[in-house]
Amino acid sequence: MRLEPGSRLQFLPGVGPARARLLERMGLVTVEHLLRHYPRSYLDARRFVAVRDLVPGELLTVTGTVRHAAAVRTRGGRTDFAVTVADSTGTLGCYFFGQSFLARALTPGARVVVSGEFDPSTRRMQNPLFEVLEGDLEQVLHAGRLVPVHALTRGLTARGLRRLVREALDRVADWIADPVPPAVRAVGDLLPLALALEQIHFPHDDVQLEAARARLAFEELFLLQTVMGLRRRVLAEEGRGLVTAGSDTLARACRDGLPFLLTPDQDRALAEIVADLARPFPMHRLLVGDVGSGKTVVALLAALHVLEAGRQVAFMVPTEILARQHAATLARLAPKGVPIFTVTGGTLAAERRALAPRLKAGEPVLVVGTHALLEQKVGLPTLGLAIVDEQHRFGVQQRATLARKGVIPDVLVLTATPIPRTLALAGYGDLDVSALRNRPEGRGRLVTRVAGEEKFPQVVEFMARELAAGHQAFVVVPLIEDAERAEFRAAQAEHQRLASHPLLQRFTLGLLHGRMKAAEKQAVMERFAAREIHALVTTTVVEVGVDVPNATLMVVENADRFGLSQLHQLRGRVGRGGERSVCVLVPSVSVSARGRQRLAELLRTDDGFALAEADLRLRGPGELWGVRQSGLPRLKLADLSRDEGLLLLARELAQRVVAADPQLLAAEHAALRATLLENYREPLELAFAG
Ligand code: ADP
Ligand code: MG
Repeated sequence: MRLEPGSRLQFLPGVGPARARLLERMGLVTVEHLLRHYPRSYLDARRFVAVRDLVPGELLTVTGTVRHAAAVRTRGGRTDFAVTVADSTGTLGCYFFGQSFLARALTPGARVVVSGEFDPSTRRMQNPLFEVLEGDLEQVLHAGRLVPVHALTRGLTARGLRRLVREALDRVADWIADPVPPAVRAVGDLLPLALALEQIHFPHDDVQLEAARARLAFEELFLLQTVMGLRRRVLAEEGRGLVTAGSDTLARACRDGLPFLLTPDQDRALAEIVADLARPFPMHRLLVGDVGSGKTVVALLAALHVLEAGRQVAFMVPTEILARQHAATLARLAPKGVPIFTVTGGTLAAERRALAPRLKAGEPVLVVGTHALLEQKVGLPTLGLAIVDEQHRFGVQQRATLARKGVIPDVLVLTATPIPRTLALAGYGDLDVSALRNRPEGRGRLVTRVAGEEKFPQVVEFMARELAAGHQAFVVVPLIEDAERAEFRAAQAEHQRLASHPLLQRFTLGLLHGRMKAAEKQAVMERFAAREIHALVTTTVVEVGVDVPNATLMVVENADRFGLSQLHQLRGRVGRGGERSVCVLVPSVSVSARGRQRLAELLRTDDGFALAEADLRLRGPGELWGVRQSGLPRLKLADLSRDEGLLLLARELAQRVVAADPQLLAAEHAALRATLLENYREPLELAFAG
C-alpha cells in the first residue's frame, strides 16, 4: 500500500502501534497531521554564546554539561526541577516549573543545549528549551542550522519526532492537496505547500523560515476567512432576517422619561441599530463602550422598538446576579407597563409556571437571564432580538443555534472590551460595530495611580478617608486561593488583613469570590448596593456589570497579573457618580519590567480602544481577554499582532472565492472544501445546505 497524506501514522516507517498511540495522544492521527505539527520554536545555533556572555532579555543558547540536578518541592505541593549547566566560562541555573519528569533526561554529566531568556537577578533561565546532545543533533547544531523544537508528549524524544517528520516529508509532502486554490496562490505569491512544509520543519535559514511561516499563516487565515465569508453569505440572505423596528412611540416615551439626554454617541449608535432592525437582514452588531458609557439605555431603547413590532427580546448576561440587577435597572428606565421578566435558576417555580404560557404564546416581552434562556424548554417563539451583555461568552456556536431555527433574530452584543481591528476581522468577519467613545457628562474625575506594596499604609489611610466620607470601595485580588505563588494574596487573606486594620475597624468589609453560592454572592452584592457594606474585597467576579455609583475607590492587587482591558474594566467600576474617584493599581512584589510597562499604559490613556490595541501588542492575541472564548480557532502560525497585511489579503481573496463559487463545487476548490469540512464542519453544513 502506498503511503498517502491521509494514511494513519502507524504505517509511516518508524512508527509502530505504540508510537502511533503516543502520537495520537497529541491529536496526530494521519501523516498529514504530523506534517502540520509545526515546531513551536527553533534552537538557533547561531545564537550560541558562552555563559559568561549571556545578556538579559534576549533569547540565547548555551551548550554545556549538567552539573547538578534536583527536584524541588514547592510549598504549594508542586514538584519543580532545577539543574546547573556549566561551560568553560561559568555556570547557569535552569529552573523548570512542575517538570520533575525531566530528571530522567537531564542527569549530571549529560551534554545539553539550553535556549531561553537569562534573568540576571537569579542568574538563571526559567523553563528554557533544552535538548540533550547526541549524534546527529550535535552535527546539525555545529553546522550552524536552525533545529526545530516540536511539542512532545511523554515517551517521545525530540530526536525521535524529528526523524519521523523527516520521513513524512520525504514520503508524502508532495502529495498533500493544497487547500489554497491555484489562483489565490498566484495572487498571494505563495511558496508551494511542500516547500513550505519542508522549510517550516527544517529551515535552511531565517529568510526561508519566514517565507514558510508566512505561507502557512496565510493558509490559516485564508481558511478562516473563507468560513466566515460562507457564513456571512448564508446569514445575510434577504428574508432570513426580521423587520422589527417599531413606530418609535414606546422608545420616544422612554427617552422623554429619562432623567438625562442621550449623548451624541448614544444617539448615533441607536440610529444605527434601529436602521438594522428595519432591514430584512439579520443584524449582528457590537455595541462597544467603556463601563458606564451608557450601553444599557441604548440596548433598552432598541428592545422597545422590537417589543413594539410585536416580537420578543432576550437580554442575556453572564450571571444570575447580573440578570436580576439588569432587570431592575431596565424596569426603572422603561416606561411603566413594559413587560420585563427575569428567568434564572433561582426564579420561583410558580413564577415560571405563570410566565411559561405567555412566552410560549409568543407574547412580546423582554426576558432577562443567562444564556440558558436560549435553551429553556418553553423557548421564545417570536424572538426578534437577542441582546448579549459581554461578548466573550457568546460565540459563533450560540449564533449558529439561533440561526438554525429558521429566521434569524437580530443580535446585539454589548461589550466594554473593544476588539482590535485585526481581531475583529479575524474572529468576527461578519460583525458591525457601534462605539460609545465619550462618557456621559456629569461624571466625576477618575484618577489612576500605581502604588507599590510599600505604600500600603497610605492606601489604607486613603480608603479610610473615602469610607468616612460616606463613599465605598472595591479591593480586587486575582485569585481565590493561594495555590500557585505566595505573593498571590487570597481574597480571604486580604479581607482579614484589611478588616483587622485599626483605621478600618468601624467599617463593614464584605467578601465576594467565585466559590460562593449564587445566593450568597447575591446577598453580598445587595448589601454593598444598599451601602451596608462599605468596602468589598473581591475576586474578579465584579468585573462585569456591577453598578454602584457611590463607589469612589478601586484598588487592584497584583495588578500586573491582569490584562489591560480587564484593568480598564475594573477601573470603570468607579467614577460612575459625580464624585472624584481613584483607581489604585498595586503591582506584585516581583513585577517584571514588562508588567510595569503594561501598567504605565493605563496611566497614559483611558481610551479603551487604545488599551485593547496595546494589550494585543504586548501580550499577543491568545492572552487577550475574551478571545479564547470568542470562537476564534487557535491559530498556530498566524500572529494577529503582526500579520495584519496577510489577514487583509486572505480576507479579500477569500471573499473573491466565496462570491464566485459559494458552494465550493469547482474542481479547483475541492481541496479547500474538503479541508474546511474536516475542520469547521458545523458552520459549513449550514453554508452548503442550500
Ligand atoms: P454601561 O452598560 O455602558 O456600563 P450603563 O448603561 O450602565 O453603562 O450606564 C451607566 C450609568 O450612566 C447608568 O446609571 C445610566 O443610567 C447613566 N447614563 C446612561 N446614559 C447617560 C447619559 N446620556 N447621561 C447621563 N447618564 C447616563
Ligand atoms: Mg453594562
